[in-house]
Amino acid sequence: AAKSQGRGNFQFFSAAMNAATHERLLLENRLWQALERNEFELYLQPQIDLATQRIIGAEALLRWHHPELGMVGPDRFIPIAEESGLILPLGDWVLQRAAGLLHAWRAPGLAHLRLAVNLSARQCHGPGLLPHLDRLLHSHGIDPALLELEITESAAMQDPERSRTLLNELRSRGIKVAIDDFGTGYSSLSYLKLFEIDRIKIDRSFVKDIETDPDDAVIVAATIALAHSLGLEVIAEGVETEAQRDFLRSKQCDEAQGYLYAKPMPAAQFEAMVHQSGVSSANRTRALL
Ligand code: C2E
Ligand code: MG
Ligand code: MG
Ligand code: MG
Repeated sequence: AAKSQGRGNFQFFSAAMNAATHERLLLENRLWQALERNEFELYLQPQIDLATQRIIGAEALLRWHHPELGMVGPDRFIPIAEESGLILPLGDWVLQRAAGLLHAWRAPGLAHLRLAVNLSARQCHGPGLLPHLDRLLHSHGIDPALLELEITESAAMQDPERSRTLLNELRSRGIKVAIDDFGTGYSSLSYLKLFEIDRIKIDRSFVKDIETDPDDAVIVAATIALAHSLGLEVIAEGVETEAQRDFLRSKQCDEAQGYLYAKPMPAAQFEAMVHQSGVSSANRTRALL
């Protein structure tokens, strides 16, 4: 019985493997054509100033409208794009689209908005990034301070010397730099000294249990205090409840992002939301007078 059960498990295991391999192939085959076919879209998730409750900008999050699978999230295809090298043209596309958005936002009611863009490890360490950014900023007439680049601590630590040089180059242009998924790597504190950055993004995994896990509450509060004492700003990711927001605000966290405010959405919807919130906050102000 044990033997046949063992074999059954093996069959189950290999069926699961086949399904994973099958999905991978399905994605990988289509991924290279997806850029030409214009199947990618940048969704935007609002970032909120915790003191004023105003939308101060957005994070750009990539989506793929796969012809058979429907909407595919980046966790499923970014790793494949990284391995296959497609991440370089794809990353360039993301930056180009982001520059187009910042250009379009030089309009009443939108001109204050900052846009945060995720960089992959390979993009950071390739030679093309800085020239591409320079061309985009120049041709779109963008204030570099409205562009923020997010790099994870693990990507930065893959090659600390090169990262240090890159971050210095970015900051010398006035581009903002944020460390994404802060706290999930193993080197959080050492690189705060090594790298020139503007902001840290506290990972969702710490925010999730802020109300129930005293350790997470202490870690988050201490992280905010540490960042502030180093002159850095702090944004919390994955804020889903009012209690989490209230805790973060009581610890002077600067900004928040999460489903409590909004899920990532198409750009037009985000722009409408900014206009709408501008109108309602003007009404609130009038109501107070
Ligand atoms: P990330 O940069 O840490 O982005 C935050 C992720 O958390 C996003 O997932 C977002 O949709 C999700 N999120 C935001 N608020 C909440 C919340 O309140 N609750 C929960 N449960 N989730 C929330 P998404 O869009 O699936 O992106 C996943 C990861 O893919 C990103 O993590 C980022 O590492 C990567 N990624 C996304 N777009 C790009 C891109 O253009 N280039 C590169 N290189 N990576 C990207
Ligand atoms: Mg990010
Ligand atoms: Mg993150
Ligand atoms: Mg993440």
